[in-house]
Amino acid sequence: MTTGKLRTEAYEHNMVRDFTCQLCGRSHEQYNASVRMMKGDCRVLAGICMTCIDVGANGAAQRMRNWASDLEGHAHDLRALADDVEGIKHWAGLDALARMELFTDENRIGPSNYIMAQVPGRVEELRRRAKREARSFVSRCRLES
Ligand SMILES: [Zn+2]
Repeated sequence: MTTGKLRTEAYEHNMVRDFTCQLCGRSHEQYNASVRMMKGDCRVLAGICMTCIDVGANGAAQRMRNWASDLEGHAHDLRALADDVEGIKHWAGLDALARMELFTDENRIGPSNYIMAQVPGRVEELRRRAKREARSFVSRCRLES
């Protein structure tokens, strides 16, 4: 439980970004100024969205309670799904993702930094494999149609 004096304050910044409200969990855009929740003078607890700002302290508290209920429901579903996920036999791994990312022409965005870091030295092999698999997929689909 949070103790101590809570307050909100508006502040300026020079960012335009999407962010997730830490009170209600919804995402929204910020333009050059935001409102945040502070504990005392220095500690930032949360960035607050326009809707939570607009509905005031009591309305924001209700939105927080609603989000907490949603999270509890989601946690239950997530645990149940995790039990099923544990048994998945066909799990598309980084190699599969890398082949998809590498099967790109020069006019598309290249592979992600994550893939480049995970599969260095294998890029050309994976690119060739991706093209072979793509040709195979296309010919299979032609046969089936
Ligand atoms: Zn909010």
